[in-house]
Amino acid sequence: MALLDYTLPTDGLAGCFIDGAWHWPASGEKLPVENPSRRETICEIGRGTAIEIDLAVTAAHRARRAWAARPSAERGAMLTELGNRLTANAEDVARILAAESGNAIRTQSRGEAMGAAGVLKYYGGVAGEQKGETLPFGPGLMSYSTREPLGVVGSIIPWNSPLQLGAVKISMALATGNCIVLKPAEDAPLAVLKLMELAADIFPPGVFNVVTGLGEEAGAALVAHPGISKISFTGSSEVGKLVAHSAADRIANVTLELGGKSPCVIFPDACTPERLDATAQGVVNAMRFARQGQSCTAGSRLFVHTSVWDDLMPLVASKAAAMTVGDALDENSDIGAVVNEERYSEICAFVAEAEKQGATFLTGETPQATEQGFHPIPTILTGLDNSWRIAREEVFGPVLVAIPWEDEADMIEQANDTHYGLAAFIFSHDFSTVVRMTRALDAGWVQVNQGGGQIPGMSYGGIKQSGMGSEYSIEGALEAYTFRKCVTVAL
Ligand code: NAD
Repeated sequence: MALLDYTLPTDGLAGCFIDGAWHWPASGEKLPVENPSRRETICEIGRGTAIEIDLAVTAAHRARRAWAARPSAERGAMLTELGNRLTANAEDVARILAAESGNAIRTQSRGEAMGAAGVLKYYGGVAGEQKGETLPFGPGLMSYSTREPLGVVGSIIPWNSPLQLGAVKISMALATGNCIVLKPAEDAPLAVLKLMELAADIFPPGVFNVVTGLGEEAGAALVAHPGISKISFTGSSEVGKLVAHSAADRIANVTLELGGKSPCVIFPDACTPERLDATAQGVVNAMRFARQGQSCTAGSRLFVHTSVWDDLMPLVASKAAAMTVGDALDENSDIGAVVNEERYSEICAFVAEAEKQGATFLTGETPQATEQGFHPIPTILTGLDNSWRIAREEVFGPVLVAIPWEDEADMIEQANDTHYGLAAFIFSHDFSTVVRMTRALDAGWVQVNQGGGQIPGMSYGGIKQSGMGSEYSIEGALEAYTFRKCVTVAL
């Protein structure tokens, strides 16, 4: 086993956490977790199956009524305590994150560790906001409603922001009085296991359970388990459809946070000499080059007004090309590695196909197979249109497709001509333009003149095949994780 300079969760025994204790799965089988920057195995996790899922769901059911009955302030205080412990351990956790996900420690993983702690503390603070309605109907009757937890939540997360997404799922479920069984991604489960380790003596047994394993095995078993009353899934649209089908069989409540192919739209007024640099940097940030483009919200289709193309594009290309690509644990790296060989090969195939079709490179290259780590460099392609496969499908790599536009109505039609609807970016300082465009674009989240990350407290979710329901805000959590119980009282 490779010796790496960070702390392994559970002293190297990365099993499942069920009913307040660590369990090695009954299968006895292990799955390797690889550091994609170095192509070496970090450690092996347990291959949990339907057996561990059933144990975890059963334990969560035993715990759920007592957990729901606890004062919300107590539930909130426990989430806050976990947030504080994560803050105190943020550097260790960031190193684990960088090693398993390939996200560079300086530009991404430290921020993710602190962001996840912020989410836990935010939900710790709003846990009491489970308010209902009152209707004083008449002299002899009144009616009121309460927000009740759904029961046991099954949550499944991907590898690209494992800790942040794990923290969101845990916080929303537990703050609203549900218990949770969380299945992390097989490529990046370690930061979540570290979080579980920090949480082990905070929550009562059965409230917070983690089962590691394969998606089609442990994940599918979790979705299909009759004891799960709510499924919260974040991942690809492809798997999201399978999850929705499986949940439909027993009318289980589902939230889906799925993929994207988000437009980033540049208006001429964002490219005046004094604004040009900030706009170019905003485009680079929106594309999430620093995350190897492996972000659901990446602004990967860039629509640039022809009048400012020659000013903007060389600057965007030079900023992207200047980013240092390297080992995710190296403090000098702006960009780390793509998570595994399969994803890397998919990116290579997308770019090679576009090159063959006649796309030209403003910067970057078709990545080649590598013996070292999976490190594609930022790539910007042009000379293609919105109908090409690379402009329509989620590449999930550092590949930006740039398309010039002249007619606004035509550009809007192209920007919306996608089956995704997660995010959109608008660069303009004209108020009317911004309002007109935010109305016109099909997206759950619109950013104006910046390309930053999600903010806890603001609702976030996609439309079309980017998802169903929203998360991050307390309103989203109440909609997604509770039901309204209506009470009518004769006076
Ligand atoms: P994925 O869909 O392959 O896997 C996501 C999770 O689902 C993993 O834990 C996996 O083990 C599990 N899984 C796989 N097959 C399953 C099945 N049949 N039943 C149940 N679970 C199953 O996605 P990925 O490659 O890990 O992540 C990248 C995708 O996630 C991208 O499409 C990205 O856009 C999306 N994503 C969306 C958001 C969002 O908030 N909208 C955030 C991050 C990532």
